[in-house]
Amino acid sequence: MIEDIDNDVFVRIQTDLLVVGDSIMTDRHHASNGNYEDDDPQNQIGGIIPAFPLSGWLRHGMEEIVDKYDGTACHPGKATANFIKSDVYERDLDGGYHEKGACTDDPKEDDGCVVFDLFGGFGGVPGKVMRRPIKFNPIRSSVDYTRGEAEGHYRRLNRNIVSRNREDNREPLRNAKVDAVANLDGCWHLSFREMKPEFIGLLAESIDFLDTHKTDFMYQLGGARNFGAGIVDCHLINPLYEERELKRVFDRGKSNTSKMDEKDDHWAAEYRPAFVDTLEERIEEEP
Ligand SMILES: [Zn+2]
Repeated sequence: MIEDIDNDVFVRIQTDLLVVGDSIMTDRHHASNGNYEDDDPQNQIGGIIPAFPLSGWLRHGMEEIVDKYDGTACHPGKATANFIKSDVYERDLDGGYHEKGACTDDPKEDDGCVVFDLFGGFGGVPGKVMRRPIKFNPIRSSVDYTRGEAEGHYRRLNRNIVSRNREDNREPLRNAKVDAVANLDGCWHLSFREMKPEFIGLLAESIDFLDTHKTDFMYQLGGARNFGAGIVDCHLINPLYEERELKRVFDRGKSNTSKMDEKDDHWAAEYRPAFVDTLEERIEEEP
């Protein structure tokens, strides 16, 4: 069954507002022609959302699923790191994590726990899932969903931090600029260097988990969660779809073909449950 799944898998991501600190890269220098104004609503600029916040968000969801099946996950930080809060690290080890890499004697020989297998990062092992950045563009017709792109609108938000003293009459103390992407809708492209059924089982379960818990503070995406940003609708696009079917998902004028509906039925009734079973077995076998 796993041989029917391509090594490139796509997750649909939709959010009204995303703020990932100052790490959105934009192409405004090309688009502005020297006349760029931060707050001009006509700005037609795109950019790139780096994979780091997306990866951390997905990993968090996966750790929850591993925990659900009574496994423990590799801690994201090296055991030998000089943790500022060592008591917090110790508490993590009591609460569903094992020391990073403790699940493998030789990372080049055996795969460790499923989280280590996917994310690597110990003993020079890269991990088997490559998380790509999402390229976004405000012009829908320029978005190539099959390459992990999204429609999205870049904005530079300006916030005035004002004095709270009555006699100051809300006099601005300073101005903060925040990079944001609004109305994001598109594909996040994950490439597996090696495919295993439990990887897809874990991905499917964790994306559902993140979607169900999207308004929980812990499972929002990016760094502005107190301001309503980072609430993400997400779902795994049926890995059985071919490229033209993937494109059709994003075509507002068209609905599923009967072939796509058939694939959805196969996915839900056969593939997904089989992959989740393999995941459960693997987690049970882990030390
Ligand atoms: Zn591990």
